[in-house]
Amino acid sequence: MTVGNPLLHKSMVSCKRKNILSPDILNKISTPAYVIDEYLLEKNLKILSYIQNSTNCKILLALKAFSTSACFPLIKKYLSGVTASSLNEAKLGSEEFGKNVHVYAPAYTPQIFKKLLKYSSHIVMNSFTQWKRLKHLAVFSENLEIGIRVNPHYSEVANAKYNPCSTNSRFGVSSDTLKNESLDGISGLHFHALCQQPFDVLERVWTQIESKFEKALYQLRWVNLGGGHYLTHPEYDVKKLITFINKIQNKFDISVYMEPGEAVVYNSGFLVTSILDLGDINPSYAIVDASASAHMPDILEMPYRPTLLNESPMSSSTFKYSIGGPTCLSGDIIGDYSFEKKLKIGDKLVLTDMAQYTIVKNTTFNGIELPSIHLLKTDGELKLIKKFNYADFKSRVG
Ligand SMILES: *Cc1c(COP(=O)(O)O)cnc(C)c1O
Repeated sequence: MTVGNPLLHKSMVSCKRKNILSPDILNKISTPAYVIDEYLLEKNLKILSYIQNSTNCKILLALKAFSTSACFPLIKKYLSGVTASSLNEAKLGSEEFGKNVHVYAPAYTPQIFKKLLKYSSHIVMNSFTQWKRLKHLAVFSENLEIGIRVNPHYSEVANAKYNPCSTNSRFGVSSDTLKNESLDGISGLHFHALCQQPFDVLERVWTQIESKFEKALYQLRWVNLGGGHYLTHPEYDVKKLITFINKIQNKFDISVYMEPGEAVVYNSGFLVTSILDLGDINPSYAIVDASASAHMPDILEMPYRPTLLNESPMSSSTFKYSIGGPTCLSGDIIGDYSFEKKLKIGDKLVLTDMAQYTIVKNTTFNGIELPSIHLLKTDGELKLIKKFNYADFKSRVG
């Protein structure tokens, strides 16, 4: 990681509220429940807004990571639009966010593409086959901008599941393909090659982009740097990013877009869960009413171990539990945790950094309840946004 600029982060955020999910607030929540903390979300948005204001670049929320429209009024005060990966997301962005709606998907049918025209300001094509097949439809939208996704075939994402630049990747065209095609009708270049990464990785990916796609960069009007930038992480070097964006915008006379998902809501959401039952040995197990499999699938997919508020470091003097969900999947395990006090049935546990890739990915596997969604307003008011019921389950399984 680069040496970050924590001072920049602190000075931009006036600290109005320190207590995160006080016992008072926790008492009011019936579990399982996601809580989006608007104060923490706004802290991120101020960093993103600072980047936009220092460069004139445009930052878009990737709806794939977080689509809770109850937060859009706050988010659109700071960001320039959204990026959608489907017709549903494009419609949501257009109707509820109402600014620029960019779309990228690996493939569109003519039927979907026609519908997308109604909602989109920018559509990014994944291949020239797609573009040639759909080009005749693009003329039906007046101000539509078309982009082409390119693949630098260079990335520093070690986990193959999250690496869009592997040899047989289906994402984007290579520089060899691009050289033989006409950019007629295309005004932008798009790439996405990062995942939770700091600025220096972007810099190295960009070196590849520039050497492989230089001619196109001079020809086109905009470039979209994709997502995966850890912009709001305390160690992200925001200053270097600003210098970089200004430099490439000047050099190529081009506008820069970025479309982070995770970085927008990083560390601003929680999942509150209650203990349903406990094993009686140490180390032991705890069963909670939130499921890794159904409510936090990235725990199993990545995989990773989320942090709990108030967990203790693992040591011999603490009480250890393997915490698992209420489904019948043996692997529905959130992780192993250690506490200073013995846990009790009914205790609430708070999982941190749970806004992105949770609500958008959850399921009713085993028929278990979907967590309700709350907003914790900056003034401390807790607002219930959505509670799910039997009808939601039934409608999803048909
Ligand atoms: C997933 C994705 C994003 C958002 O990625 P984050 O890691 O959440 O920032 C942006 N653009 C594209 C094309 C994506 O596939």
